[in-house]
Amino acid sequence: MFDPILLARAQARISEKKAAREARAARRHDEIHAAVPGIAAIEGQMRSGLLRAVRETFASGEKGESAMEACREHNLALRMKRSRMLTDHGYPADALDEAPDCLLCGDAGFTDGKPCFCLRQLYADMQLQSLDQRLDLLGQSFETFDLPIFSAEEDPLERESPRDRMKLLLEYCRKYTRRFGRDSANLLLRGGPGLGKTFLCACMAGEVAAGSHWVIYETAANAVALMEAEKFARDGVSGELAERLFACDLLLLDDLGAEFVTPFAQSALYQLLSARLSEHRPTIAATVLTEEELRRRYPPQMASRLESFELLPLFGEDLRRK
Ligand SMILES: [Zn+2]
Repeated sequence: MFDPILLARAQARISEKKAAREARAARRHDEIHAAVPGIAAIEGQMRSGLLRAVRETFASGEKGESAMEACREHNLALRMKRSRMLTDHGYPADALDEAPDCLLCGDAGFTDGKPCFCLRQLYADMQLQSLDQRLDLLGQSFETFDLPIFSAEEDPLERESPRDRMKLLLEYCRKYTRRFGRDSANLLLRGGPGLGKTFLCACMAGEVAAGSHWVIYETAANAVALMEAEKFARDGVSGELAERLFACDLLLLDDLGAEFVTPFAQSALYQLLSARLSEHRPTIAATVLTEEELRRRYPPQMASRLESFELLPLFGEDLRRK
């Protein structure tokens, strides 16, 4: 599924590039026509030959085929003549041949009413860029994940080292993103601050977005603010922003529990999670709160929604304090 706002932006960028290319071609055309005498006459012959052939095809049915064929040959000869004139004047032979960046759609962005490959490619790049602004994705991927910063010392309670746990979680998250789809589980990343939750979120966001899914990363506080703005919106713009939280393929909701506790925040988050659950749109939430704390903080329906998420528990020392 596509983010309609981002898709429109990508489409606009393709149109701008197309207009710029056409303007460049027009300038080049004028320049060459001024510099190479006789080239306008040749192009005139090419156009009139084509027109004649089209007219004959319509007038004479079957016989038109051969008129078209003759025209093609004639135009080819004219084209070669034009190329020679161009190279004689120091221009590349194809200086007047205008080709779109995308041959599939001619830079329209769509083919058969569907986004063309070029548009989808640009959309995916733009989505990664916008996620990158939030998450610094470039420095964070499964490949660059720095396991050695996690302690290898076994934790007596967990009977495992933070590094081994992180290794397991990384493997799990990598598989999750590779198989991501509407039936993917909802995940709850739980652990104290500075244990790599946002880091894992960034890796998953980047990977899932690269697979042309619509991914949104937002802190719970921001998500609440967006939904609150929608409530008071008159322009529809913030309404769209809030709707994206409901509609995206994957929502990463970071810092759940750090938002202000208000009746609005609680019901908005509950509605968001419930709507996504019932429409099979996976959500990955991250929190520092324990199960007990979540139950104290949220109404029972919300807490039980969260308890239905698959739990990925992190533990260890705050890496940022090291
Ligand atoms: Zn295209």
